[in-house]
Amino acid sequence: MSDGMTSLWEATAAPAPETYPLEGDTTADVAVIGGGIAGLSTAIHLARAGRSVTLLEAEDVGWGASGRSGGQVIPGIKYDPDDMIEMFGPEAGAAAIEAFGATAGKVFELIDRYGIDCDDTRQGWVQPAHSEAGLRIAISRCQQWKKYGADVDELTADEVHSRLGADTGFGGWIDRRAGSVQPLSYSRGLARGALTEGVCIASRSPVTDISSRSGKWQLRTASGATVTAPRVAVCTNAYSRKIWPKLERSYIAANSFQVATAPLSSNLDAKIMPGGIVASDTRRLLAYFRKDRDGRLLMGGRGTFGDPTKPEDFAHVERMLIRTFPDVEGYPIEYRWGGRVAITQDSLPHLHEPQPGLVIMVGCQGRGMALQSKMGEWLGSYIDTGRREALPLPLTRIAPIPFHELRRLYVAATIAYFKLRDVVG
Ligand SMILES: Cc1cc2nc3c(=O)[nH]c(=O)nc-3n(C[C@H](O)[C@H](O)[C@H](O)COP(=O)(O)OP(=O)(O)OC[C@H]3O[C@@H](n4cnc5c(N)ncnc54)[C@H](O)[C@@H]3O)c2cc1C
Repeated sequence: MSDGMTSLWEATAAPAPETYPLEGDTTADVAVIGGGIAGLSTAIHLARAGRSVTLLEAEDVGWGASGRSGGQVIPGIKYDPDDMIEMFGPEAGAAAIEAFGATAGKVFELIDRYGIDCDDTRQGWVQPAHSEAGLRIAISRCQQWKKYGADVDELTADEVHSRLGADTGFGGWIDRRAGSVQPLSYSRGLARGALTEGVCIASRSPVTDISSRSGKWQLRTASGATVTAPRVAVCTNAYSRKIWPKLERSYIAANSFQVATAPLSSNLDAKIMPGGIVASDTRRLLAYFRKDRDGRLLMGGRGTFGDPTKPEDFAHVERMLIRTFPDVEGYPIEYRWGGRVAITQDSLPHLHEPQPGLVIMVGCQGRGMALQSKMGEWLGSYIDTGRREALPLPLTRIAPIPFHELRRLYVAATIAYFKLRDVVG
């Protein structure tokens, strides 16, 4: 890429640990496919449980969504606590609220345990409302989490303004369980942690075939090298490459784009999002924003259908940046980059076990930094013990989205619909 179309995270990340492609024919207790946060965290938790683990990554660790992310570490899923009670019933709902409410803490636990150098902040996440209707949602969300003991508070419009340095016009709420990381550094730090736990990480080793032999799984990589293991965790998420039948048709891979300005002047740096706070608004097609360690202002939002090819593809995100922070008009955009997020039909993450011993996780709806870190603990525990109670959600069958091949039209229609609803409040 050229012309400012590079990733900020690539430019500022901690170095990657040395890893090599898989060679020969090897065995392990568990093979993990995918070297993003989910795969790395799963590998760590399995290794700590005493299992031998080989992790296969098609490119390099953090290459997928994990290393391209906005890096906002926010607990929870798309659904609010009351929704979870309604969906799962009182007992399972309360367990889901506790489980999903604890996800951000897992990130900070892993950072502390492995001494990960990833510019982390732990100052909370602000959700400013974009309309009166958005404010009602934000207040209700805050009150629901407060009922379950979370460290959250409602914010007036003035309080939002002083925390963000942006005049969003409405109030909102703050969730102090949240924070941020440099996502590629965090992914690489997890890889270092996994290596210290004895995990074998094979990079540049795309799995091209999965077959079952005498009760074990054999994974073959593009070079012909193999790993044979009784258990497999598939953590390929929005970057799955036809690795398992129907998997890619069970979610929509939508693009999310980000831009980063040049470092702000000291005056603006003190005014805009001081102290490491992060934010995303209440729009259905949300805008997410934060600063990096050097005082660059980042803005992210929906992307185009295909991968970006030119700076103009980011024009709508740049307009959003100036609309939210008029003070930065005229600042050069130094970085533009994007990545894919997996959106499922019911907006829930999905866990599948299409055949015994092969577990798949997909779909974090664009909010996976915290979720996938904790998912590793849940998946690891399930694979280690076979206890379904270790999982926060039931295992489901892989359900392809009808007419998935028309997804471009579907996504376009959905975006147009949500844009309209955002405009009318
Ligand atoms: C632009 C962007 C911004 C985001 N911002 C935020 C945010 O601010 N906060 C937040 O919480 N979430 C955010 N997300 C979502 C979050 O980054 C993801 O949910 C999370 O990183 C997913 O992690 P993962 O490990 O499941 O998947 P990934 O990180 O995508 O890892 C999957 C890996 O599998 C590998 N793979 C695929 N097929 C094979 C194969 N056949 N063999 C071997 N390896 C294979 C891929 O190369 C890839 O590295 C954002 C995502 C994007 C794209």
